[in-house]
Amino acid sequence: MVFEGLADKLQETFKKLRGKGKLSETDINEAMREVRMALLEADVNFKVVKDFIAKIKEKAIGQEVMQSLTPAQFVVKIVNDELTALMGGTQSRITVSSRPPTIIMLVGLQGAGKTTTAGKLAHLLKKQSKRPLLVAADIYRPAAIKQLQVLGGQLDIPVFTVDECKDAVLIAQKAVEYATSYARDTVIIDTAGRLHINEDLMQELKSIKTKVKPHEILLVVDAMTGQDSVTVAESFNKDLGLDGVILTKLDGDARGGAALSIKAVTGCPIKFTGMGEKLDALEIFHPDRMASRILG
Ligand code: GDP
Repeated sequence: MVFEGLADKLQETFKKLRGKGKLSETDINEAMREVRMALLEADVNFKVVKDFIAKIKEKAIGQEVMQSLTPAQFVVKIVNDELTALMGGTQSRITVSSRPPTIIMLVGLQGAGKTTTAGKLAHLLKKQSKRPLLVAADIYRPAAIKQLQVLGGQLDIPVFTVDECKDAVLIAQKAVEYATSYARDTVIIDTAGRLHINEDLMQELKSIKTKVKPHEILLVVDAMTGQDSVTVAESFNKDLGLDGVILTKLDGDARGGAALSIKAVTGCPIKFTGMGEKLDALEIFHPDRMASRILG
């Protein structure tokens, strides 16, 4: 389960505080030392941890405790509020164009779960009564195109591609024309992934961005790669400009460091999380619910 280790440790720390009537500065410092350790062990970016602890201390030490709360509840509330803020505060929605189609471009490294996520997102939108169109624009890997076609078949959602075409920008442009002609209101472009970020890949993605003008560019990253996923997000954001992140494989990430660091480090909100391999395993990301999950 995600955040398993972190949740256990924080609950342990707060249990100790609950035993005390009034909290001294030493009690809070000691608790924050434990919270700091727990966050670092969960692979949260060290600078994020440092700022987080400083904010909590500032809010907890020397403050009047709200009447309705015990001192321990007061500290838990501050931690809860700050965890929520760390992950973006409120839910970040995807932009819906007032003039359809809304164009969503999925980018990311190979293996992150991009193609699966394209299918999941189309499925989610279909359930919301949208008419998505999937676009296979990974011209380098015929297997990726086939994979998307199989997913589209399972979901009964059309998959656009241009056979033998070696121009990803052209495929994306034609897909938008197709969507307009056939009243598909959301276009989801599955772009090519590479094993590592490289100049050619970025150039192709930038060309698609310039020509197709997506309303949303979402980076798909693998939560299980921890801080590496944060570095990938920083890099894509710098080169391409991201509207958000989809964090996949959170179901297999017991630590949760990426989920807690990405927004704070890159400024890009997490919009969805992948919680399994199945096509219905995509969840809208709610920072407050995620914080509650951590604090139990
Ligand atoms: P791509 O190369 O980025 O297009 O990656 P794929 O979509 O082919 O996914 C790579 C692998 O990750 C596949 O085996 C997927 O089933 C798996 N995968 C994708 N998303 C998730 C997720 O949220 N949870 C789990 N457990 N597996 C996932």
